Amino acid sequence: MLIYAHADCAAHLTPPGHPERVERLGAVMAGLTGVTATRRDCPMGDEADVLRCHPASYLAKVKAAVPGEGWVSLDADTHLSPGSYVAAMRAVGGACAAVDAVLAGEAKTAFVACRPPGHHAETATAMGFCLFGTVAIAARRAIEVHGVSRIAVVDFDVHHGNGTQDLLWTEDRCLFVSSHQMPLYPGTGAEDETGAHGQMINVPLRAGSGSAGLRQAYEAKVFPVLRDWQPELILISAGFDAHRDDPLGGLGWETADYAWLTERICDATTGGRVVSTLEGGYDLEALTASVAVHAAVLEARG
Ligand SMILES: [Zn+2]
Repeated sequence: MLIYAHADCAAHLTPPGHPERVERLGAVMAGLTGVTATRRDCPMGDEADVLRCHPASYLAKVKAAVPGEGWVSLDADTHLSPGSYVAAMRAVGGACAAVDAVLAGEAKTAFVACRPPGHHAETATAMGFCLFGTVAIAARRAIEVHGVSRIAVVDFDVHHGNGTQDLLWTEDRCLFVSSHQMPLYPGTGAEDETGAHGQMINVPLRAGSGSAGLRQAYEAKVFPVLRDWQPELILISAGFDAHRDDPLGGLGWETADYAWLTERICDATTGGRVVSTLEGGYDLEALTASVAVHAAVLEARG
């Protein structure tokens, strides 16, 4: 297993009281302390990778908006501080490097411990704490650079991965699965949103549906399709905000659910290659515990 992280991800500062805060990284690292893995620094993201998902005008807009001090707001809850662009590009670079390494056979699995998250960023719109669609960018790199023809992205964050859905809507080589609480921000992710080629599975879950609702939904709607897809590589949008202690979500998942889910996702790949990238998770203790069980499964898979 490989772990990608970088100190620059702590330079993305959010206003006081914002849930997506620097302290989350410490909580994630605490969850990784017991894991035996090779630690690597994220390289800076390559603009060419970003441009497979976002137009040059959007990349330039984000870069130009970075303030010299304080914050600027791109929407009601998405803010830029002086270090935000570099942090977001470390996340992109880490996810792309993890894909490269896993496809090169350096390890079976990797976890990218970076922030800001990425799954809400649409083609030309920053939203929901996200600037660039990190997981979609990594998926496109696997497809375009490495020639992977069957890939899957599984997003188990409590919020719908609207950005990933937008960025991969027409991509018939990538199966996209998102489970999420509904109704909840951002409001998308209904079952009838199936992508341009029927390659998207949206699994809305009711508040309070808990472990039983999660397991039932994945067994019925996700795992059979995921196995049939025979993905050579699975990317996970690993948000831990469906945890029962999370202040933003209300699905009521237990820590052990993340171990179960990670096991089953790993089982669905043809060669066991899995790259997981951090999305949400806002209760620090729950985040530490959830990352620990998630990473333990990845570690055991190599
Ligand atoms: Zn979330």
